[in-house]
Amino acid sequence: MSECWSKADLHIHSNHSDGLARIPEIMDHVQENTDLDVIAITDHNTIEGALFAKALEDMYDFEVIVGEEISSRSGHVIGLYLEEHIPAGLSVSETIARIREQDGIAMIPHPFSNQGVFGPFGRNMFREAVNDLAFHALEVYNSIPYLGWANRVAAKMFTGGNGIAATGGSDAHVLQGIGTGYTLFRGSTAVDLRASIDRFETRAETGRGGLGLALRYARSIPKIRRQHAWNWERCEARQ
Ligand SMILES: [Zn+2]
Ligand SMILES: [Zn+2]
Repeated sequence: MSECWSKADLHIHSNHSDGLARIPEIMDHVQENTDLDVIAITDHNTIEGALFAKALEDMYDFEVIVGEEISSRSGHVIGLYLEEHIPAGLSVSETIARIREQDGIAMIPHPFSNQGVFGPFGRNMFREAVNDLAFHALEVYNSIPYLGWANRVAAKMFTGGNGIAATGGSDAHVLQGIGTGYTLFRGSTAVDLRASIDRFETRAETGRGGLGLALRYARSIPKIRRQHAWNWERCEARQ
C-alpha cells in the first residue's frame, strides 16, 4: 500500500454548466498552477464537459474523474466515476441508486446548505439518512465562502465517524477557485483515490486561510496526522 498522500479536487464546474472556464483552460490551469494529482469535473446535470476533460487527460500529468452534480428533488448529489449521464429530478435515493448501478461513488456536497440534501436544519435528518441512504462520501469541506457555517456542521457531524468517507472540494466556478478545497488520499491515481474512499481514510482540507473546524475530524486522530506529515515530506522529497 502506498505511503504517499496526494490531493484531489472533487468538485469543479466548467462552462458546460454554470462555470466560467472552458475545459482546456481548466486542464492547463491544474497542470501549471496546482499540485493536484486528480480532479473531478462535476457540472450540473451533464457529463459532457467531464468526458471532454477525460479525453484530454493523456496530455497532462494528473488524472480526471468523470463526475456530475445532479439536482435531485431534495438537493444536490455528486456522482463520481460515472460512465453515463444521470437525469435531474429523481429522488435522492433513486439518484444514489443510479450512481451505484454504474459502480460510481455517491458524494453528498455541501450537505447542510440550502441546496444540500439535508438543508440548513438537517442535523436530525442526517442521523437517520446515514442509515437509509447508501452514499459513500460526504463533502465535509466546500470552499464557497458563505458555506462556512454549513462546513462546520458537516465537520461536527463527522467527528463520531459514520462509515462514510470525508471529502473536500472547491466547488470552483472560476479557475482561481480550483484546489482551494481538496481531498487528501493515499496514493496518487484515481484508482488509488477510490480505494482510499472505500477505506474511509480520505480527509478534507483547505488550501487557503486557516484550516478551521472542518479539520477537527482529521486532527482528532494524532497518529494519522503525524504519519501524514511524515509521509508528505517523504513524497515531496521523492519528486
Ligand atoms: Zn451544489
Ligand atoms: Zn457545485
